[in-house]
Amino acid sequence: MIRDYLSEESEKQIIERFNSMDFHCIFCNNPNPLDKTNVHCEQERLNFYPPGQDMSPYKDLRSSLRVSAFLICPLCKNKFFVNILDQGKINKLK
Ligand SMILES: [Zn+2]
Repeated sequence: MIRDYLSEESEKQIIERFNSMDFHCIFCNNPNPLDKTNVHCEQERLNFYPPGQDMSPYKDLRSSLRVSAFLICPLCKNKFFVNILDQGKINKLK
């Protein structure tokens, strides 16, 4: 299934939702959320089929959305990279 590309307005809303999320440091006990920098929202074409299978531009490839950012702990100064990749809706398990 090929998904339509998102509008600029939708990308803006996705970034706003991402910015409302709180991430916490995995190295120290800082009770405050990490600072976010370089927040990006991008769409790309992905092949969700396992390696070795032929790709079809009509079935196997679809556009996908990725939000990425650097997170910095103001307390211990560690820098992290977070990458949220949309992989589409799950199929109902039988
Ligand atoms: Zn920390």
